[in-house]
Amino acid sequence: MPELPEVETIRAQLAPRLEGRTIARVEILDPRLTRPFDLFEVTEELEGDRIAAVERRGKYLVLRLESGLALLVHLRMTGSFGFEAASHERAVLELDDGTRLVYRDVRRFGTWLVLENVELDPYLAGRTGPEPLGSRFTSGWLADRLAVRRAPLKAVLLDQRVVAGLGNIYADEALWRARLNPLRPASSLEPNEVRRLHLAIRAALRAGIERQGATLRDYATPDGSAGGMQEEFRVYGREGEPCPRCGTPIAKARVGGRGTWYCPRCQPWV
Ligand SMILES: [Zn+2]
Repeated sequence: MPELPEVETIRAQLAPRLEGRTIARVEILDPRLTRPFDLFEVTEELEGDRIAAVERRGKYLVLRLESGLALLVHLRMTGSFGFEAASHERAVLELDDGTRLVYRDVRRFGTWLVLENVELDPYLAGRTGPEPLGSRFTSGWLADRLAVRRAPLKAVLLDQRVVAGLGNIYADEALWRARLNPLRPASSLEPNEVRRLHLAIRAALRAGIERQGATLRDYATPDGSAGGMQEEFRVYGREGEPCPRCGTPIAKARVGGRGTWYCPRCQPWV
């Protein structure tokens, strides 16, 4: 599933080609994409509007339109954008300069939702915490969230209201950087451990953005290139391979049903 670095990479590539352009024609090929709203209703709302800005909040892409509407896209498992015809096309936006923006989605869990700008902030505020690379995401804010949760640390980090945009890959990478065991109760962290974790989350996400995200199966950037982060995973998906820091074989556990990789020596259960 695309996480913050992948969605940010997509946003950065879409923005220069979309911003300022008018949506000339919309074709939504899968009614599931806009459920519970009718696809023709959504088509009508988007056609003729101009894209003012392409933004991101957590794992959401936000196309702000000049009329005061916003198109909120969540890619879920396998959603992606491109400028070439593709298999599994679920929607197409034709822009006034002839650009054909294709949305494809093999597993069809992605969603498109049109909201008024005034509805957008409350909608997102209920689902996503502060941006982890922004100034509101402080070590103190994170400490307060962790202190009240007894669930395993990894599971709490995947809560989008705690760390917006963090998913399975970057949570494991951040915990390895912070030398914290993913199975520890979140409330057991000492203040210095939370500070380490706060820095590690930011570092892991920044590394992902620099490499244009990670390409595992379905993710590709809109220009068709692959991300490079998968070459630099420290622990994610590397069961049995040596830890890059100490050489101990990486272990695999399950936390909240998700595969979780960590170094048993660098990330001990204190
Ligand atoms: Zn290690």
